[in-house]
Amino acid sequence: MASYDYDLIVIGAGSGGVRASRISASHGARVAIIEEDRPGGTCVIRGCVPKKLLVYGASFAHEASDALGFGWHIEGISHSWSSLIAAKDSEITRLEGIYRRLLENAGVDLIAGSAILTGPHEVSVAGKTLTAETILVAVGGTPRILDIPGMLDYAISSNEALDLNELPKTIIIHGGGYIALEFAGIFAALGSETHLIYRSNYPLRGFDENVRQHIAKCLPDRGITLHPETSITKVEKNANLLEISLDNGAIIKANQLLSATGRKPNTASLGLGELGVEMGEVGQIIVTEDSQTTVPSIYAIGDVTDRVNLTPVALGEGHAFADSLYGKMSKKMSHDMVASAVFSQPPISCVGMTEREATDKGIDVVVFESLFRAMKNTISGRFEQSYMKLVVDKETDRVLGAHMVGPDCAEIMQGIAIAMKMRATKSDFDATVGIHPTAAEEFVTMRTPRS
Ligand code: NDP
Repeated sequence: MASYDYDLIVIGAGSGGVRASRISASHGARVAIIEEDRPGGTCVIRGCVPKKLLVYGASFAHEASDALGFGWHIEGISHSWSSLIAAKDSEITRLEGIYRRLLENAGVDLIAGSAILTGPHEVSVAGKTLTAETILVAVGGTPRILDIPGMLDYAISSNEALDLNELPKTIIIHGGGYIALEFAGIFAALGSETHLIYRSNYPLRGFDENVRQHIAKCLPDRGITLHPETSITKVEKNANLLEISLDNGAIIKANQLLSATGRKPNTASLGLGELGVEMGEVGQIIVTEDSQTTVPSIYAIGDVTDRVNLTPVALGEGHAFADSLYGKMSKKMSHDMVASAVFSQPPISCVGMTEREATDKGIDVVVFESLFRAMKNTISGRFEQSYMKLVVDKETDRVLGAHMVGPDCAEIMQGIAIAMKMRATKSDFDATVGIHPTAAEEFVTMRTPRS
């Protein structure tokens, strides 16, 4: 039998990689994990966590204006962007420390450096060659900035947007996906003049059409100027201001331009192609449902595989990998009924199929909808409405999709996801007693199907 330095080398200490290495070590494997940046990866260091902290920070602006209707007198309040960034940074440093300790306590060797695969069992890092029976690639993705004249020179990505020295007076956000909407909400609430430029008719392609239309109605009231069906043709800089030319002939001047046009798998310099690891069109690693690549000793999990690019999915894939390889269990990560949320203002959440996905599959559906002004908005003076939708299979009564735009929808959707994973029917929803008065109770009181 060949002898290796480790049973498992994991490349990338993000959510998926750390979970896989810790669980593998707990099953007795000798594990090393390689990271070129700070342990924690996209989610903890430059994604979900810092973004959500900024979302919380920004949401107080709306709370403060809502409070006026409830009798509060709030005068002279102000916000310090630099204090928010400093507080966020110190929390991220604390979390990074927790990630380091988790690895240490699990007996996993953390190695700093950029890894290159030099063989099916061999990795080169920091001038050394290390060997392992199995290699797990969990390097995630990186922002994809489009090749538009001036874009690469002047646009920032979400990485830099989380660390700006000052709040931009005006910001242009390019894209209409998760990251674009979340950052638009943050900057607009904190006082930046915020423009969202996207090529589709509505933001969030792939989401339910009614959700897309509803959020497009809400965003302008939250201070975001929408530019649908618009492309950027050129970016220039003049006297410290960016001049962003649009395909409709307009030029917008701004202090910052945030590119949020998707992410790409981080596979460019890993040496995978040379080893015969099959990769897809955008550089994603092709894997089986057990996360194995076309080279049997090499596995891959998380965003680098471009399956469902969400942290909890990477965690699940990493855990299933570790339990299956080292824990004598046969586990598979299910990518079905994965709930997700966009932390825009207002937020959006969903689980299961959109109406179009269901009908495209030939399913005869019944749709239930609710459009209402949340109780808090009555005397706050905010006119924003919340929207909910259930897509139900007419034949089986099973709830196939649930969608919501409105405050707390991410918290609400987690419970709905459990019910739907358990194959709940609309009758099960109807038999559930609501909690009154809440917005969530609407999900169990929608009685009349859309005609
Ligand atoms: P998304 O895929 O969500 O959105 C990309 C946006 O860029 C879309 O509006 C897309 O337009 C636009 N775009 C792509 N190519 C072009 C082009 N050539 N010209 C003009 N516009 C273009 O990517 P994000 O970067 O926002 O997020 C990446 C992923 O990260 C998400 O898909 C999600 O999986 C994950 N994520 C999850 C979060 C969460 O769970 N809360 C938060 C942030 C990220 P079009 O739709 O027309 O193609």
